[in-house]
Amino acid sequence: MRQIALYGKGGIGKSTTSANLSAAFAEKGLDVMQIGCDPKHDSTRMLMHGRWIPTVLEQMYERKDLEMDDVIFTGFGGVRCVEAGGPEPGIGCAGRGIIATFQLLEKMKALHGDVVVYDVLGDVVCGGFAMPMRDGYAQEVYLVTSGELMSLYAANNICKAIARLSQRSTARCRLGGVICNSKNMDNERELVAEFAKRIGSKMVEFVPRDKAVQAAEVNQMTVIEHAPTSPQADVYRRLAGTILANDDLRIPTALDLDELEKLARAYL
Ligand code: SF4
Repeated sequence: MRQIALYGKGGIGKSTTSANLSAAFAEKGLDVMQIGCDPKHDSTRMLMHGRWIPTVLEQMYERKDLEMDDVIFTGFGGVRCVEAGGPEPGIGCAGRGIIATFQLLEKMKALHGDVVVYDVLGDVVCGGFAMPMRDGYAQEVYLVTSGELMSLYAANNICKAIARLSQRSTARCRLGGVICNSKNMDNERELVAEFAKRIGSKMVEFVPRDKAVQAAEVNQMTVIEHAPTSPQADVYRRLAGTILANDDLRIPTALDLDELEKLARAYL
């Protein structure tokens, strides 16, 4: 079972990327589970045709004897969708949502399949973002970033967490690569590729900004489902193939702030 976590700054497009990746994996006939951990709990929404599924935390507050059907919902392509949930946005739960989710799924023996995709907020406001890495769940991390300084800054911070956590015996996480989710900036591809190289990794895909993404979202679907013949759907399929074939996993070296800012300036 491959356990893949996508990390990055809030609003960078992790959920869109994760949902399309899960859809692309499912299209290849794989058994896929996606676990979202974000106060917005909208990670799996496009796989669920716009439905906000109840979160594990919400369900736990309501009753004790939860069954699989209360927390695992089947979306596009048979992807099993779970939302960890948490308190109001901006407050964080110090990982309570994701810890409770792991415990429950393990108790139910529901953590199985070919691929588990974790879509995890990488913000400092949310104390639990390291959980999937810390306890050996997420073995491969992909950083989602654009060329904007703040998203590179968040990606760089996550590198520090991976490097620190990789020293623990329970953690097996390594960095699989960087995904550039383009904001249409000048020299963005070059900047993100260079950033990936400097942290000791590589850019595994450049996802262009494309109207197909908004069109799919308005129609409450992934691009893979809404526009299966579009070039954008092929980008997500290629990314899924690259990730499946990737065995080059590394411990990254974060840049110091001066170096990161100098790098961003050089590609203005
Ligand atoms: S750690 Fe908690 S607050 Fe943060 S995103 Fe996950 S469930 Fe939500």
